[in-house]
Amino acid sequence: MRVLVVEDDASIAEPLTSGLERQGYVVQWVATGADALNAPEPDLILLDLGLPDLDGQVVCRRLRERSNVPIIVVTARSDEIDRVTLLDLGADDYIVKPFGFRELTARIRAVTRRASPATGSGEPTSVLAVGPVTVDRRTRRVTVDGTEVTLTPKEFDLLAYLAEDPGAVRTRDQILRAVWDTNWWGSTKTLDVHVASLRKKLGDPDLIETVRGVGYRLVDEPR
Ligand code: CA
Repeated sequence: MRVLVVEDDASIAEPLTSGLERQGYVVQWVATGADALNAPEPDLILLDLGLPDLDGQVVCRRLRERSNVPIIVVTARSDEIDRVTLLDLGADDYIVKPFGFRELTARIRAVTRRASPATGSGEPTSVLAVGPVTVDRRTRRVTVDGTEVTLTPKEFDLLAYLAEDPGAVRTRDQILRAVWDTNWWGSTKTLDVHVASLRKKLGDPDLIETVRGVGYRLVDEPR
C-alpha cells in the first residue's frame, strides 16, 4: 500500500516514514502542499495541516475534490480544529500530535478497511507485514524473511488474527471466538497446541509472546 506523507517537519516525517516502511507500506514524503497536490495518487494520505506554503485545509479540500483516496489529517493541538470541520473538508479521520505509532497504524487500518470494497479484489491491504512475517489474507500465504511457510487453515487464521494488530495482546477468549467459533466451549488446550505449532513453523518462538494469564501477542519488533 502506498502512503503519501505530507509533513514539513523532518523530525516527524523521517521516523514516521521509516516506521511505516517497516510495516510494509511504500512511503512517499513531501514537505509542501504544492508537492502533495502534484504527487501521484497514493492509496492513503497522511496530511499535516500546518504546511509552509498552502493551508492544509485547502490542500485537503482540493485532494478530495479529485479523488476518493483516504485522507488522515494530522493536527497539532494548537490548530483548534474540530472533527466536524475536518470531515466537511473531506478527511476520513484525524490524529492529534503527538501521537503513538501504534495509534496511527490502527487508524490507517480502520480507514483503509472502510475505503476498500469488501469484494476481496486483491487489494494490497490484504497483506499484513509484522517484523519478518508477512501474511497475505487473500492468497492465504505466509512468508518469514521471504521464505514461504506452510500452515494449516487454523494456524493461518490464528496468525492472521494476531497480525491484524501487532503488539496488541489478544485474550484467549478473543482468539478462540475469532479463530474457532463464536460459541467455542471446547478445551482451550487447542489454542496452546496451535500456538506451539505456529511458533515452530515460524522458526522464532519469540515472535508470539505469551502474556501469562491473559493471552498472546504477535511481537512487532522482535529482539
Ligand atoms: Ca507542520
